[in-house]
Amino acid sequence: MLLAAAHARRESRRVVVPAANLAEAWLAAPAAAHGPSTLLAACDVKGGTCADESTIRADSSDAKLAGVPDLADVRGQAAAKRALVVAASGGHSLLLVGPPGTGKSMLARRLPGLLPPLDPDEALDVAGIASVSGCGFDAREYGRRPFRAPHHSASAGAIIGGGPRAHPGEASLAHRGVLFLGELPEFNRAVLESLREPLETGVIAIARAALRVEYPARFQLVAAMNPCPCGYYGDASGRCRCAPGEIARYRARISGPLLDRIDLRIEVPSLSSEELLDDVASGDAQWSTARIAARVRSARERQIARTGMLNVEIPGRDAQKLCRLDKHGRLLLAQARTKFGLSARGLHRVLRVARTIADLDEQTGPIGPVHLAEALQLRRAVE
Ligand SMILES: [Zn+2]
Repeated sequence: MLLAAAHARRESRRVVVPAANLAEAWLAAPAAAHGPSTLLAACDVKGGTCADESTIRADSSDAKLAGVPDLADVRGQAAAKRALVVAASGGHSLLLVGPPGTGKSMLARRLPGLLPPLDPDEALDVAGIASVSGCGFDAREYGRRPFRAPHHSASAGAIIGGGPRAHPGEASLAHRGVLFLGELPEFNRAVLESLREPLETGVIAIARAALRVEYPARFQLVAAMNPCPCGYYGDASGRCRCAPGEIARYRARISGPLLDRIDLRIEVPSLSSEELLDDVASGDAQWSTARIAARVRSARERQIARTGMLNVEIPGRDAQKLCRLDKHGRLLLAQARTKFGLSARGLHRVLRVARTIADLDEQTGPIGPVHLAEALQLRRAVE
C-alpha cells in the first residue's frame, strides 16, 4: 500500500484505499490519499482531502517520539556516551569492547535517537525496504531511524539479503539507521567480509541466476565484543585466565579490512561500585537524548555546509586537506605517529574523528591539539 501510494504521488494522482489502510497510504501521499469507509463515500471522493487527516497526522508524529530510549538512563560510562555522541555527529562506525553486562547494547540502542529525524524521502526509502522484506512494514515505525541487531548465528543471506526471491537483509533493513552486531568475533567471517562493500558504497547487489537487484544499505555500524574469550581480560576483578594466544586468536577473527572501516574503538569497562550505586532514576540531564540530538544536528549541518558530506564519508586522499590541523595539532600528530605507529588509514580515521570533535565544539578553523588528542583516545581499543 505504501509503495503504491508513493507511486501515485509521484504521478500526481490520488489514491483511494480501504479506510483501514488509510494511515499507511497517507504516510507516502498525504493529501492525495482517501480512505472512505463505504462505497457510497468512495463515490464522493472528488478533490480536497479526507475528513480525518488531522487525527492521522497527530498519530504519526506521536509515534516518532514514543519509545525512543534516552541516553540519560544509562548508568556511568561517560567515555562510551561521549563516543556515541561523536559517532552520531560524524556518522562514524563504532566498536565497543568490554566485559559482558557493561551496557554495550544498551548504549548502541540509544544511537538512533541521537540522529536527526529522517526526511520524507528517506522515510519512504526505509519503509519501502521494510515493506518488501519478510518482516513487513509497520506504520508505527514510519519516519524512525531503524535499529537492527541480528544474532551472531544469522546466515549471510539473512544479513546481506538474498534467497530465492532476493529479499533485502538486515544490512538493508538498517538503511539510514544503525546495524548493531553484538559479539562481533562470533559472526561468520564471510558475513563480516561481505559487509565491507555496503560500508564503502552504501549499496548491496544481490545476484541470482534470473535477476540482479540492488538494495540500499547505508547504515551506521556499531559493533560490540568481549576483550577475550572469557570476557574479563583487563577487568579489575582479575578473573580472566585466557592465554595470550587465545586472546590473539579471538581478536584475529575480525579482519583488518573490516576493522579499518571502524573509526571509533573504545573500551567499556565494568562499572565502579560508586557508579553502580549512582541514582539515575531521574536521568542525568547532561546526557539527555533530546539535548544531545540538537548538538548532533548542528554539528552535522556544519559538515554538510563545509564539504557537502558527513566527516565519515571524507575519502582518505582528501582527509589531510579537509581535516586540516593547526601548527600544534601537526606537532602532536607527528609524536603520535611515532608512538603508536599509525598507518596511513589509521591516520585518516584519526583526522576524520578529530574534525567531528571540532565540529561538535563549533570550531570552524583548523583542528587543534585538544580535539586531536581526544580523537587519538577514541581509537585505542583493539589495535
Ligand atoms: Zn579472558
